[in-house]
Amino acid sequence: MTEPQLDRDAPAIHVADLHKSFGDHEVLRGIDVDVANGQVVCVVGPSGSGKSTLLRCVNLLEQPTSGKIFVEGIEITDPDVDVDRVRSRIGMVFQQFNLFPHLSVLRNLTIAQRRVKGRSKDEAAEVARGNLAKVGLADREDAYPAHLSGGQQQRVAIARALSMDPDMMLFDEPTSALDPELVGDVLAVMKALAAEGMTMMVVTHEMGFAREVGNKLVFMDDGFIVEEGEPRTVLDDPQHERTRTFLSKVL
Ligand code: ADP
Ligand code: MG
Repeated sequence: MTEPQLDRDAPAIHVADLHKSFGDHEVLRGIDVDVANGQVVCVVGPSGSGKSTLLRCVNLLEQPTSGKIFVEGIEITDPDVDVDRVRSRIGMVFQQFNLFPHLSVLRNLTIAQRRVKGRSKDEAAEVARGNLAKVGLADREDAYPAHLSGGQQQRVAIARALSMDPDMMLFDEPTSALDPELVGDVLAVMKALAAEGMTMMVVTHEMGFAREVGNKLVFMDDGFIVEEGEPRTVLDDPQHERTRTFLSKVL
């Protein structure tokens, strides 16, 4: 079998007519979305609209029912695709930080590098330290997750994902579990990442972030994309009643 070739000119993510059902509940009902290289696409919408399922399909944590997803030009919905290779190019950050509680911060960042990337202990530690510095936690490498604030834990989770050298990052409500005063530090890290040119797909209720950092805002409801566009345009002049209703609740 020939290796499919990465196509750096293709959109980072291309989703075409994606459907996903759980039993007879159709949760995604024909999603089309593109994320260009270096773009930040923010996905907003009510609870249960399918936002997490969409991200999880892009990362192959869920198997789509039908439709196609391409990552850097490679069809990842092809049954022959190497799932591990696809996942290794995509970093994922969840609402619940999912750190290993029994490992220090440094070990949380090195373990997958060593197992998946085959890096030596020193090499993995060097990469980890670089990424901890990037998220403002250079001095916490020996701490255990329970001794960190939620905001610090989430920044560790971001540093952990970055340590795998992903081409793109998916964020699923990364600040929704945080006390309000800790949200800003995490958003600042994400903003810096975007400024470096990282391709990002971000499910969030932080409309300020979407407006300031997003290149595109996608509004989902009930398994459909109801509208999408320039964040400012969608936020200031929503075209659909469902978007208006949602925004009036969150803004
Ligand atoms: P959102 O992230 O927008 O809140 P989700 O993608 O988590 O929405 O969920 C969309 C719908 O799919 C919800 O009704 C949810 O209950 C359902 N769902 C999500 N995951 C599963 C699953 N593994 N099994 C059954 N139903 C699921
Ligand atoms: Mg969700």
